[in-house]
Amino acid sequence: MKKSCPLNKNDMVELYIESIGSNGEGIGRVDGYTLFVREGVPGDQLMVKVVKTKKSYGYGIIASILEPSPDRTEALCPVAGPCGGCSLQHMSYQAQLKAKDKTIRDTLCRIGGVDPDRLDRIMEPIMGADNPYHYRNKVQYPVRDNMGKIQIGFYGKGSHRIVETPRCYIQDTYNENIVGLIREFMVEKGIKAYDEVKHKGLVRHIVIRKSNEKNIFHVILVINGQQLPEVEVLKERLMGLDLVESFSLNVNRDKTNVILGPRMIHIDGPAYLEDSIDDISYRISPLSFYQVNPDQTLKLYHKALEYAGLTGKEKVFDLYCGIGTISLFLAKKAAHVYGVEIIGAAIDDARENAQLNGIENASFYTGKSEEVMPRLYEEEGITADVVVVDPPRKGCDESLLSTIVDMSPRRLVYVSCDPSTLARDIKILEAKGYALDKVCGCDMFCHSSHVETVCLLNRID
Ligand code: SAH
Repeated sequence: MKKSCPLNKNDMVELYIESIGSNGEGIGRVDGYTLFVREGVPGDQLMVKVVKTKKSYGYGIIASILEPSPDRTEALCPVAGPCGGCSLQHMSYQAQLKAKDKTIRDTLCRIGGVDPDRLDRIMEPIMGADNPYHYRNKVQYPVRDNMGKIQIGFYGKGSHRIVETPRCYIQDTYNENIVGLIREFMVEKGIKAYDEVKHKGLVRHIVIRKSNEKNIFHVILVINGQQLPEVEVLKERLMGLDLVESFSLNVNRDKTNVILGPRMIHIDGPAYLEDSIDDISYRISPLSFYQVNPDQTLKLYHKALEYAGLTGKEKVFDLYCGIGTISLFLAKKAAHVYGVEIIGAAIDDARENAQLNGIENASFYTGKSEEVMPRLYEEEGITADVVVVDPPRKGCDESLLSTIVDMSPRRLVYVSCDPSTLARDIKILEAKGYALDKVCGCDMFCHSSHVETVCLLNRID
């Protein structure tokens, strides 16, 4: 790598895009110096204007496309460029999958220290979506005041400016009816949208969740106040839509980026969403995590189950279990499953879900995995044959990995939504007596740069 930057701001350079970065930007090199270019597609030959330089890397924008990559395509969404939601719509879907596969591969080699030849032998083809559009079962639209005008859409790339999105190509189009109706209601009743800077105005977000099984929608209006004027009118109108099953308010009065506040005010319809994955039914409370891409979730869970290699005799831990989705999948093939999750409401759902499905060999614990797991192991002497982890983006706490190693399960299935922290944790586990045996990507977030990965690690005896 070059010690000093060979480029200056406003330089024009010819650049070949080799790969994509973690935010979906194209990556090219000038004399070994890395340039990140938004909407650059691997295979593009570009004329790039340099807009920012740092010591070892910089940023550029496309001035012109000299030779487009064969993988370059026209984005379906007219605002895919400015909107912060999709960063890969300008690449063909097959190319997106190839790029995500490469991201997993490169990250496991670079950060995880996995030998590339070994990875070639153990990596399975990424699981792509049959339909990469309109797949999401959950949307959270920010509602903002712009000099008295109501804006509803998504945050722009790297900002909190609203990009209005009359149609979102990864969301269910039915949401448009709900949003249209709420906007009309707000205008008619003079209800103010939220102003983030002044921390004023009432309506902050529209959250909509869909049950794939029942094809119905639950609407939550997040408000910066304790009540919504004329809520009965909005209730009548929303519940009058044929597919809306439930309407709630959520109170969030904090100056925060966190969308949902702790208090729910249930207005009409069931308080919980019901859905199913395969033959297991789930009750999901509004504050609980639930995977956003139903078709891909099914593939992901089946892969996790396959990697767990259960015969019916195993004691299994499902750490970061949410509402117990993976736990209940595993329970049908295991002796006992112990699920651990930090959100109490999700654990309530998990217990209820076990009961709902007549599953008696699953127990659930509220708390941090890194605290509950050592307690169960050291104080209650509970051990595991198989451990499944599905942590948030920051990955597993190092102390948790130590406890897992002490417990010494035969197999460890790692489900990850961030290849970098996955690779970091794999490096730790490989140094402590486990070997990476299988890797498979899963495209849960089509058109975004995110990718899910499932790995199997085996204990070296
Ligand atoms: N396996 C579940 C949930 C995965 S998302 C599913 O597939 O639906 C990650 C979950 O980890 C979230 O529910 C989050 O609340 C939980 N979580 C975050 N930090 C945690 C910690 N330290 N210990 C236990 N759970 C945690």
